[in-house]
Amino acid sequence: MIYKGIIERYRKYLPVTEKTPIVSLFEGNTPLLRAHNIEKHMGVKFRIYLKFEGANPTGSFKDRGMTMAISKAVEEGSKAVICASTGNTAASAAAYSARAGIKCSVIIPDGSIALGKLSQAMMHGAKVIALKGNFDEALKIVLEITKNYPITLVNSLNPYRIEGQKTASFEIMDFLGCSPDYHFIPVGNAGNITAYWKGYKEYCAKKKLTHHTCVLPHMMGFQASGSAPIVRGKPIKNPKTLATAIKIGNPASWKKAEAARDESKGVIDIVTDAEIVKAYKLLAALEGVFVEPASAASLAGLIKYFKKGSLNCQPSTVNSQPVIVCTLTGHGLKDPDRAIKSATRPKVLGQDMKKIIKEIGL
Ligand SMILES: *Cc1c(COP(=O)(O)O)cnc(C)c1O
Repeated sequence: MIYKGIIERYRKYLPVTEKTPIVSLFEGNTPLLRAHNIEKHMGVKFRIYLKFEGANPTGSFKDRGMTMAISKAVEEGSKAVICASTGNTAASAAAYSARAGIKCSVIIPDGSIALGKLSQAMMHGAKVIALKGNFDEALKIVLEITKNYPITLVNSLNPYRIEGQKTASFEIMDFLGCSPDYHFIPVGNAGNITAYWKGYKEYCAKKKLTHHTCVLPHMMGFQASGSAPIVRGKPIKNPKTLATAIKIGNPASWKKAEAARDESKGVIDIVTDAEIVKAYKLLAALEGVFVEPASAASLAGLIKYFKKGSLNCQPSTVNSQPVIVCTLTGHGLKDPDRAIKSATRPKVLGQDMKKIIKEIGL
Protein backbone atom coordinates (compact mmCIF):
# COMPACT_ATOMS: atom_id res chain seq x y z
CA MET A 1 0.00 0.00 0.00
CA ILE A 2 1.36 3.36 -0.99
CA TYR A 3 0.72 6.03 1.59
CA LYS A 4 -0.69 9.28 0.31
CA GLY A 5 -2.33 12.29 1.85
CA ILE A 6 -5.66 13.65 0.66
CA ILE A 7 -4.11 16.15 -1.75
CA GLU A 8 -2.16 13.49 -3.65
CA ARG A 9 -5.14 11.21 -3.62
CA TYR A 10 -7.78 13.66 -4.79
CA ARG A 11 -5.61 16.25 -6.52
CA LYS A 12 -7.94 16.76 -9.49
CA TYR A 13 -10.82 17.74 -7.23
CA LEU A 14 -8.77 20.27 -5.25
CA PRO A 15 -7.48 23.80 -5.98
CA VAL A 16 -3.79 22.85 -6.21
CA THR A 17 -1.23 23.01 -9.04
CA GLU A 18 2.20 21.48 -9.71
CA LYS A 19 3.62 24.50 -7.92
CA THR A 20 1.76 23.93 -4.66
CA PRO A 21 4.22 22.65 -2.04
CA ILE A 22 2.31 19.85 -0.38
CA VAL A 23 2.52 19.83 3.39
CA SER A 24 1.11 16.49 4.48
CA LEU A 25 1.17 14.02 7.35
CA PHE A 26 -0.64 11.41 5.22
CA GLU A 27 -4.00 12.42 6.59
CA GLY A 28 -7.28 10.92 5.41
CA ASN A 29 -7.92 7.35 4.26
CA THR A 30 -9.61 6.80 7.62
CA PRO A 31 -11.59 3.64 8.45
CA LEU A 32 -15.25 3.34 7.47
CA LEU A 33 -16.30 0.71 9.97
CA ARG A 34 -19.49 -1.30 9.85
CA ALA A 35 -21.12 -1.05 13.31
CA HIS A 36 -22.58 -4.56 13.55
CA ASN A 37 -22.86 -4.52 17.34
CA ILE A 38 -24.62 -1.18 17.49
CA GLU A 39 -26.99 -2.30 14.72
CA LYS A 40 -27.87 -5.34 16.81
CA HIS A 41 -28.12 -3.30 19.99
CA MET A 42 -30.51 -0.84 18.35
CA GLY A 43 -32.40 -3.56 16.47
CA VAL A 44 -32.22 -1.81 13.11
CA LYS A 45 -32.59 -3.12 9.59
CA PHE A 46 -30.19 -0.66 8.01
CA ARG A 47 -26.42 -0.72 7.77
CA ILE A 48 -24.56 1.70 10.02
CA TYR A 49 -21.02 2.79 9.16
CA LEU A 50 -18.69 4.84 11.33
CA LYS A 51 -16.28 7.21 9.60
CA PHE A 52 -13.57 7.26 12.24
CA GLU A 53 -11.78 10.56 11.80
CA GLY A 54 -9.91 10.07 15.07
CA ALA A 55 -7.53 7.97 12.96
CA ASN A 56 -6.09 11.10 11.32
CA PRO A 57 -2.48 12.05 12.21
CA THR A 58 -3.37 14.56 14.93
CA GLY A 59 -6.52 12.69 15.92
CA SER A 60 -9.27 14.70 14.25
CA PHE A 61 -10.76 15.50 10.84
CA LYS A 62 -9.20 18.97 11.06
CA ASP A 63 -6.09 17.49 9.38
CA ARG A 64 -7.94 17.15 6.06
CA GLY A 65 -8.54 20.87 5.93
CA MET A 66 -5.20 21.79 7.45
CA THR A 67 -3.06 20.02 4.84
CA MET A 68 -4.82 22.22 2.25
CA ALA A 69 -4.76 25.45 4.28
CA ILE A 70 -1.07 25.17 5.21
CA SER A 71 0.02 24.04 1.72
CA LYS A 72 -1.74 27.03 0.16
CA ALA A 73 -0.43 29.41 2.81
CA VAL A 74 3.14 28.30 2.03
CA GLU A 75 2.47 28.55 -1.71
CA GLU A 76 1.28 32.11 -1.22
CA GLY A 77 4.44 32.97 0.70
CA SER A 78 2.91 33.18 4.16
CA LYS A 79 5.33 32.81 7.07
CA ALA A 80 2.77 32.67 9.86
CA VAL A 81 -0.74 31.35 10.51
CA ILE A 82 -3.27 31.90 13.27
CA CYS A 83 -6.55 30.37 14.41
CA ALA A 84 -9.09 30.47 17.20
CA SER A 85 -9.83 26.97 18.39
CA THR A 86 -11.72 24.78 20.81
CA GLY A 87 -8.60 22.60 20.54
CA ASN A 88 -8.48 20.35 17.50
CA THR A 89 -7.88 23.11 14.96
CA ALA A 90 -5.05 24.36 17.17
CA ALA A 91 -3.50 20.88 17.42
CA SER A 92 -3.71 20.38 13.67
CA ALA A 93 -2.51 23.88 12.72
CA ALA A 94 0.42 23.52 15.10
CA ALA A 95 1.47 20.14 13.67
CA TYR A 96 1.22 21.14 10.00
CA SER A 97 2.97 24.46 10.69
CA ALA A 98 5.82 22.59 12.38
CA ARG A 99 6.12 20.39 9.31
CA ALA A 100 6.05 23.41 7.00
CA GLY A 101 8.53 25.35 9.13
CA ILE A 102 6.24 28.35 9.61
CA LYS A 103 5.04 30.14 12.70
CA CYS A 104 1.71 29.21 14.29
CA SER A 105 -0.31 31.08 16.90
CA VAL A 106 -3.52 29.80 18.44
CA ILE A 107 -6.08 31.52 20.64
CA ILE A 108 -8.07 29.14 22.80
CA PRO A 109 -10.82 29.74 25.35
CA ASP A 110 -9.14 29.46 28.76
CA GLY A 111 -10.32 26.44 30.73
CA SER A 112 -12.54 25.00 27.96
CA ILE A 113 -10.00 22.97 26.06
CA ALA A 114 -9.39 19.25 26.49
CA LEU A 115 -6.01 18.22 27.82
CA GLY A 116 -4.87 16.16 24.82
CA LYS A 117 -5.46 19.01 22.40
CA LEU A 118 -3.65 21.58 24.52
CA SER A 119 -0.65 19.29 24.91
CA GLN A 120 -0.45 18.82 21.13
CA ALA A 121 -0.46 22.56 20.39
CA MET A 122 2.22 23.10 23.03
CA MET A 123 4.47 20.25 21.89
CA HIS A 124 4.34 21.31 18.22
CA GLY A 125 5.68 24.67 19.26
CA ALA A 126 2.70 26.92 18.61
CA LYS A 127 2.34 30.20 20.47
CA VAL A 128 -0.67 29.35 22.62
CA ILE A 129 -2.75 32.17 24.05
CA ALA A 130 -5.49 31.23 26.50
CA LEU A 131 -8.17 33.90 26.22
CA LYS A 132 -10.45 34.87 29.07
CA GLY A 133 -13.53 34.37 26.96
CA ASN A 134 -15.26 31.74 24.85
CA PHE A 135 -14.56 30.42 21.35
CA ASP A 136 -16.76 32.98 19.60
CA GLU A 137 -14.89 35.82 21.29
CA ALA A 138 -11.54 34.22 20.38
CA LEU A 139 -12.59 33.98 16.72
CA LYS A 140 -13.61 37.64 16.68
CA ILE A 141 -10.16 38.66 17.90
CA VAL A 142 -8.42 36.41 15.38
CA LEU A 143 -10.47 37.87 12.52
CA GLU A 144 -9.53 41.37 13.65
CA ILE A 145 -5.83 40.40 13.70
CA THR A 146 -5.86 38.76 10.25
CA LYS A 147 -7.56 41.84 8.79
CA ASN A 148 -4.77 44.10 9.99
CA TYR A 149 -1.57 42.03 10.05
CA PRO A 150 0.30 39.77 7.58
CA ILE A 151 -0.77 36.45 9.07
CA THR A 152 -2.95 33.78 7.45
CA LEU A 153 -6.25 32.69 8.98
CA VAL A 154 -6.59 28.89 9.15
CA ASN A 155 -10.03 28.67 10.74
CA SER A 156 -12.71 27.05 8.57
CA LEU A 157 -13.55 30.50 7.16
CA ASN A 158 -10.41 29.83 5.12
CA PRO A 159 -12.00 28.23 2.02
CA TYR A 160 -9.12 25.76 1.59
CA ARG A 161 -10.13 24.13 4.86
CA ILE A 162 -13.54 23.22 3.43
CA GLU A 163 -11.90 22.01 0.21
CA GLY A 164 -9.71 19.57 2.13
CA GLN A 165 -12.49 18.41 4.41
CA LYS A 166 -14.82 17.53 1.53
CA THR A 167 -12.50 14.59 0.72
CA ALA A 168 -14.13 12.62 3.55
CA SER A 169 -17.24 12.34 1.36
CA PHE A 170 -15.09 11.17 -1.55
CA GLU A 171 -13.64 8.38 0.58
CA ILE A 172 -17.09 7.30 1.72
CA MET A 173 -18.39 7.15 -1.84
CA ASP A 174 -15.28 5.33 -3.06
CA PHE A 175 -15.75 2.76 -0.32
CA LEU A 176 -19.50 2.27 -0.63
CA GLY A 177 -19.61 2.66 -4.39
CA CYS A 178 -22.45 5.15 -3.90
CA SER A 179 -23.59 7.72 -1.39
CA PRO A 180 -25.28 6.73 1.88
CA ASP A 181 -28.98 7.42 2.45
CA TYR A 182 -28.37 9.44 5.61
CA HIS A 183 -25.28 11.15 6.90
CA PHE A 184 -25.17 12.01 10.62
CA ILE A 185 -22.61 14.56 11.78
CA PRO A 186 -21.84 16.80 14.79
CA VAL A 187 -22.20 20.54 14.16
CA GLY A 188 -20.07 23.19 15.87
CA ASN A 189 -18.81 25.96 13.65
CA ALA A 190 -20.62 24.09 10.85
CA GLY A 191 -17.64 23.92 8.49
CA ASN A 192 -17.67 20.14 8.35
CA ILE A 193 -21.32 19.64 7.42
CA THR A 194 -20.75 22.29 4.73
CA ALA A 195 -17.68 20.42 3.47
CA TYR A 196 -19.32 16.98 3.40
CA TRP A 197 -22.30 18.29 1.47
CA LYS A 198 -20.01 20.03 -1.02
CA GLY A 199 -18.02 16.81 -1.38
CA TYR A 200 -21.08 14.65 -2.04
CA LYS A 201 -22.44 17.06 -4.62
CA GLU A 202 -19.15 17.50 -6.47
CA TYR A 203 -18.19 13.84 -6.51
CA CYS A 204 -21.55 12.80 -7.85
CA ALA A 205 -21.39 15.45 -10.56
CA LYS A 206 -17.76 14.90 -11.54
CA LYS A 207 -17.99 11.14 -11.63
CA LYS A 208 -20.95 11.72 -13.93
CA LEU A 209 -22.99 9.24 -12.01
CA THR A 210 -26.53 9.09 -13.24
CA HIS A 211 -29.38 10.08 -11.00
CA HIS A 212 -30.07 6.42 -10.44
CA THR A 213 -26.71 5.49 -9.03
CA CYS A 214 -26.17 8.66 -7.07
CA VAL A 215 -28.93 9.82 -4.78
CA LEU A 216 -27.41 12.32 -2.39
CA PRO A 217 -27.77 11.66 1.34
CA HIS A 218 -29.90 13.59 3.79
CA MET A 219 -27.49 15.61 5.91
CA MET A 220 -28.39 15.15 9.60
CA GLY A 221 -26.47 17.65 11.74
CA PHE A 222 -26.52 17.69 15.56
CA GLN A 223 -25.69 20.44 18.00
CA ALA A 224 -25.49 20.03 21.78
CA SER A 225 -28.70 21.29 23.39
CA GLY A 226 -26.83 23.92 25.45
CA SER A 227 -25.09 25.33 22.40
CA ALA A 228 -27.53 25.03 19.54
CA PRO A 229 -27.69 28.45 17.84
CA ILE A 230 -28.79 27.11 14.45
CA VAL A 231 -31.64 25.11 15.98
CA ARG A 232 -32.71 28.00 18.26
CA GLY A 233 -32.42 30.46 15.40
CA LYS A 234 -30.19 32.92 17.25
CA PRO A 235 -26.61 33.16 18.57
CA ILE A 236 -26.08 31.75 22.07
CA LYS A 237 -24.12 34.11 24.32
CA ASN A 238 -22.87 31.53 26.80
CA PRO A 239 -22.92 28.14 25.09
CA LYS A 240 -22.77 25.16 27.42
CA THR A 241 -21.91 21.51 26.79
CA LEU A 242 -19.35 18.97 27.93
CA ALA A 243 -18.67 18.33 24.24
CA THR A 244 -16.14 21.17 24.05
CA ALA A 245 -15.43 20.78 20.32
CA ILE A 246 -18.99 21.88 19.52
CA LYS A 247 -19.33 24.46 22.28
CA ILE A 248 -19.94 27.28 19.84
CA GLY A 249 -22.59 29.99 20.06
CA ASN A 250 -22.27 31.71 16.70
CA PRO A 251 -21.15 29.30 13.95
CA ALA A 252 -18.99 30.75 11.17
CA SER A 253 -20.65 28.62 8.47
CA TRP A 254 -24.20 29.06 9.77
CA LYS A 255 -25.81 29.94 6.42
CA LYS A 256 -23.98 27.21 4.51
CA ALA A 257 -25.01 24.60 7.05
CA GLU A 258 -28.64 25.66 6.63
CA ALA A 259 -28.22 25.39 2.86
CA ALA A 260 -26.79 21.85 3.24
CA ARG A 261 -29.74 20.94 5.46
CA ASP A 262 -32.34 22.37 3.09
CA GLU A 263 -30.84 21.16 -0.20
CA SER A 264 -30.40 17.64 1.18
CA LYS A 265 -33.83 17.57 2.85
CA GLY A 266 -32.04 16.85 6.09
CA VAL A 267 -32.20 18.36 9.57
CA ILE A 268 -30.11 20.24 12.09
CA ASP A 269 -31.33 19.31 15.54
CA ILE A 270 -30.19 18.94 19.13
CA VAL A 271 -28.98 16.13 21.35
CA THR A 272 -28.54 16.53 25.10
CA ASP A 273 -25.24 16.03 26.91
CA ALA A 274 -26.72 12.90 28.50
CA GLU A 275 -27.53 11.49 25.04
CA ILE A 276 -24.02 12.37 23.86
CA VAL A 277 -22.40 10.57 26.79
CA LYS A 278 -24.58 7.51 26.25
CA ALA A 279 -23.53 7.27 22.60
CA TYR A 280 -19.89 7.97 23.58
CA LYS A 281 -19.92 4.98 25.91
CA LEU A 282 -21.73 2.73 23.42
CA LEU A 283 -19.14 3.37 20.72
CA ALA A 284 -16.28 2.51 23.04
CA ALA A 285 -17.92 -0.49 24.70
CA LEU A 286 -19.68 -2.08 21.71
CA GLU A 287 -17.44 -1.22 18.77
CA GLY A 288 -13.98 -0.61 20.20
CA VAL A 289 -14.08 2.92 18.83
CA PHE A 290 -12.96 5.57 21.29
CA VAL A 291 -14.06 9.07 20.32
CA GLU A 292 -14.20 12.39 22.09
CA PRO A 293 -17.64 13.44 23.36
CA ALA A 294 -18.46 15.89 20.53
CA SER A 295 -17.94 13.11 18.00
CA ALA A 296 -20.65 11.00 19.59
CA ALA A 297 -23.29 13.64 18.78
CA SER A 298 -23.70 11.95 15.38
CA LEU A 299 -24.61 8.55 16.84
CA ALA A 300 -26.70 10.22 19.55
CA GLY A 301 -28.64 11.93 16.76
CA LEU A 302 -29.11 8.66 14.90
CA ILE A 303 -30.43 6.94 18.04
CA LYS A 304 -32.80 9.86 18.68
CA TYR A 305 -34.18 9.83 15.13
CA PHE A 306 -34.48 6.06 15.00
CA LYS A 307 -36.47 6.08 18.27
CA LYS A 308 -38.74 8.84 16.96
CA GLY A 309 -39.40 6.69 13.89
CA SER A 310 -38.30 9.57 11.67
CA LEU A 311 -36.00 7.61 9.37
CA ASN A 312 -37.19 6.10 6.15
CA CYS A 313 -35.94 2.55 6.50
CA GLN A 314 -37.33 1.23 3.25
CA PRO A 315 -34.87 -0.04 0.67
CA SER A 316 -33.77 2.96 -1.39
CA THR A 317 -33.09 3.29 -5.10
CA VAL A 318 -29.43 2.52 -4.66
CA ASN A 319 -29.18 0.51 -1.48
CA SER A 320 -31.30 -2.58 -0.86
CA GLN A 321 -30.62 -2.05 2.82
CA PRO A 322 -30.51 1.66 3.71
CA VAL A 323 -27.02 2.87 4.50
CA ILE A 324 -26.26 5.32 7.27
CA VAL A 325 -22.90 6.93 7.91
CA CYS A 326 -21.99 8.62 11.20
CA THR A 327 -18.94 10.84 11.20
CA LEU A 328 -16.87 10.42 14.35
CA THR A 329 -14.87 13.62 14.31
CA GLY A 330 -12.08 13.10 16.86
CA HIS A 331 -10.21 10.60 19.00
CA GLY A 332 -11.18 9.76 22.59
CA LEU A 333 -7.63 10.28 23.83
CA LYS A 334 -8.09 13.99 23.18
CA ASP A 335 -10.20 14.29 26.31
CA PRO A 336 -9.01 11.76 28.90
CA ASP A 337 -10.63 13.67 31.78
CA ARG A 338 -14.09 13.08 30.37
CA ALA A 339 -13.37 9.40 29.81
CA ILE A 340 -12.25 8.90 33.38
CA LYS A 341 -15.34 10.78 34.66
CA SER A 342 -17.60 8.57 32.52
CA ALA A 343 -16.30 5.11 33.33
CA THR A 344 -15.77 2.90 36.38
CA ARG A 345 -12.57 3.65 38.26
CA PRO A 346 -9.98 0.86 38.59
CA LYS A 347 -10.17 -1.04 41.84
CA VAL A 348 -7.04 -0.71 43.97
CA LEU A 349 -5.99 -4.02 45.52
CA GLY A 350 -3.00 -5.38 47.37
CA GLN A 351 -1.01 -8.31 45.99
CA ASP A 352 -3.51 -10.85 47.26
CA MET A 353 -4.03 -13.46 44.53
CA LYS A 354 -7.41 -14.60 45.90
CA LYS A 355 -8.84 -11.11 45.88
CA ILE A 356 -7.47 -10.42 42.41
CA ILE A 357 -8.98 -13.65 41.03
CA LYS A 358 -12.31 -12.80 42.67
CA GLU A 359 -12.28 -9.29 41.23
CA ILE A 360 -11.59 -10.64 37.73
CA GLY A 361 -14.58 -12.91 38.23
CA LEU A 362 -12.90 -16.28 37.62
C1 LIG B 1 -14.16 20.84 14.99
C2 LIG B 1 -14.86 19.69 15.57
C3 LIG B 1 -16.24 19.52 15.47
C4 LIG B 1 -17.13 20.54 14.84
O1 LIG B 1 -16.91 20.71 13.46
P1 LIG B 1 -17.44 22.02 12.74
O2 LIG B 1 -16.84 22.00 11.40
O3 LIG B 1 -16.93 23.16 13.58
O4 LIG B 1 -18.92 21.96 12.75
C5 LIG B 1 -16.81 18.39 15.99
N1 LIG B 1 -16.08 17.46 16.62
C6 LIG B 1 -14.74 17.58 16.73
C7 LIG B 1 -13.99 16.53 17.45
C8 LIG B 1 -14.09 18.70 16.23
O5 LIG B 1 -12.77 18.81 16.37
